Amino acid sequence: MGIEKPLDPPKNGLLAPDLIPVAYKVLDAWKVLIKGLGQLLYVIPVYSCNECSEVHVSHSGHHMQDCLGPTNSKRRSFHSWIKGSINDILVPIEAYHLYDPFGRRIKHETRFQYDRIPAIVELCIQAGVEIPEYPSRRRTKPIRMIGRKVIDRGGLVEEPQPWRAANPSSLVDLDTHGACERFPPPLPSDIPKIAQETMDAYETVRFGVTKLMKKYTVKACGYCTEVHVGPWGHNAKLCGEFKHQWRDGKHGWQDATVDEVFPPNYVWHVKDPKGPPMKGGALKKFYGKAPAVVEVCLQAGAQIPEKYKPMMRLDIVVPDSEEAQLVA
Ligand SMILES: [Zn+2]
Ligand SMILES: [Zn+2]
Ligand SMILES: [Zn+2]
Repeated sequence: MGIEKPLDPPKNGLLAPDLIPVAYKVLDAWKVLIKGLGQLLYVIPVYSCNECSEVHVSHSGHHMQDCLGPTNSKRRSFHSWIKGSINDILVPIEAYHLYDPFGRRIKHETRFQYDRIPAIVELCIQAGVEIPEYPSRRRTKPIRMIGRKVIDRGGLVEEPQPWRAANPSSLVDLDTHGACERFPPPLPSDIPKIAQETMDAYETVRFGVTKLMKKYTVKACGYCTEVHVGPWGHNAKLCGEFKHQWRDGKHGWQDATVDEVFPPNYVWHVKDPKGPPMKGGALKKFYGKAPAVVEVCLQAGAQIPEKYKPMMRLDIVVPDSEEAQLVA
């Protein structure tokens, strides 16, 4: 037996009051981000590779021969481009919604009793945002632990049945699914403003999630992209979709990084989106990358934060191919 150590909110199951406004700000910005991208993608074309995770923001896919997809040898490692969607820019990371993250663990057999929602939305709920369709147990007494064992969680209470059917329209804004169909194409004169709001919303989400994750625990699997918001992970055995037989499908939980919850999803920065497709070879060293959202917003007319400019190599003039041969 260890000794009982006093826990501070939110590790003791109570809300951290100073982070409640942060959580509301993140959720508001998250909705703006989804709406903004839904509109901008009418005018900023995105391509994704059918065979690997490469994404390219331009009028055509690039011609760099670096595809690692299963049939890449038949294509001399050229990517197999198809039209992309908002999910290629804002990669969906979903997690189970828990009424009580300190309560019963999700078992493999009980996993269908829980909703899957964007992990960022679940983090905001656990940090204090009230969404009636996704109720959350709000404790008035702290849980008590000895070492890693909970000795008092205030009992297990019956989880209210989700009443999603009541007002499903209030939930669609929280998710990227179908985002492009939900919003009309923007007026050309509105595009720079939307681009800037979307860029600012991205920064607000990233900043807020970083802040929330300093106090609220989020777990990520070391073997796949599964994320769990809450202190202990879950026991659904779906790791790597059964590719990891030797682990019996169990996830390997570790503390998550911000990038695992809100992936930057780096893409090549395209200096001339209407120009010829970017090529690899000697030119590649003149290219830089940016988070996909930043690249979309920049191409749509946003001012981007200074911190992204060096990684995008915005200061470097790309020589034409012949010059590049000489430099190489
Ligand atoms: Zn590819
Ligand atoms: Zn896993
Ligand atoms: Zn795997």
